[in-house]
Amino acid sequence: MAIDRYGRNIDYLRVSITDRCNLNCKYCMPDGVCKKLSHNDILTYEEITKIIKAFAKIGITKIKITGGEPLVRKDSYEFINSLKKIDGINEVTITTNGILLDQYIDGFIENGIDGINISLDTLNKEKFKKLTGGNLDKVKKSIQDLIDKGYKNLKINSVIIKDFNEDEIIDLAKLAKDNDIAVRFIELMPIGNAKKFESVKRDYILSKLEKEFGKYSIYDKKIGNGPADYITFDNFKGKIGFIDAIDHKFCKDCNRVRLTSTGKLKLCLQYDVGINLKDFAKGDITEEEFLEKIKKALMIKPKENSFKDLDNIIDENTNTMNEIGG
Ligand code: SAM
Ligand code: SF4
Repeated sequence: MAIDRYGRNIDYLRVSITDRCNLNCKYCMPDGVCKKLSHNDILTYEEITKIIKAFAKIGITKIKITGGEPLVRKDSYEFINSLKKIDGINEVTITTNGILLDQYIDGFIENGIDGINISLDTLNKEKFKKLTGGNLDKVKKSIQDLIDKGYKNLKINSVIIKDFNEDEIIDLAKLAKDNDIAVRFIELMPIGNAKKFESVKRDYILSKLEKEFGKYSIYDKKIGNGPADYITFDNFKGKIGFIDAIDHKFCKDCNRVRLTSTGKLKLCLQYDVGINLKDFAKGDITEEEFLEKIKKALMIKPKENSFKDLDNIIDENTNTMNEIGG
């Protein structure tokens, strides 16, 4: 078991396999698109596998593959499926923008992928183009295919932004009314370009939902690994979730650390604090030394985010969201 100094059991590793993306969401990508790291800068699949295998020995049981967009990296589909075979890893999930997903759906389902999260902030083709630069039809097709194939562990992640998609809260929620899936409203965190946008709070979203669908009931069974609070409404097949790291801080239950594609282990989404794991990936230190290093690193995992207090602290995060992976 990997326990940090606040007694939190860290059993979940989010792995960003690339910072590149085939979309350019305005709140996520740095201006002028991402840094374009060279292949030598990023960990190979063999190196990532080596790191995950070592983590599995100290209690990491769940892996989320993210990006940038994970499916733009060559052979990512094969890599993701290979992770299910690692001893100790019980759960492999992916977060994707859905653009390239369609061709891999059958294979992922056959291989027993444990969860697919698709990011979708708007159902309007023009607005989607404006926000991301991409084609909404492809995302919709991936979502519909997963639903038609009866895939059970589908979650839609929607960031609601003031004056952009507040008017779509009900339409997005209807995806969970009509289908047995989870639609989660994610609070925008002030990282990188997102600081230029204003997020919309849970209370506002809840009031809109209640006006449309009636009184909600709390759904308190666990869904996935995440910090979401779930609710549902009469006549809903699915659930609505809220992940609001600022307004409803969930740091005391934080169970995760993050690996960037360049081999940095990020101990908290907000801060730069972390260590570089390239030495182990490249064979410069032994597994024993690596595990010692991880245990020490967990002792400096921050207690909690201070997004609410950004004006009073030095914003030291050197990573943008497309590098961190959400
Ligand atoms: N490209 C994949 C995708 O879009 O799902 C994976 C990476 S993306 C960084 C993961 C998630 O982070 C997306 O759902 C995106 O909306 C979310 N995200 C990006 N920037 C964010 C921010 N500043 N605050 C909250 N969520 C953010
Ligand atoms: Fe790409 Fe995902 Fe960031 Fe959008 S949110 S730019 S799809 S990494």
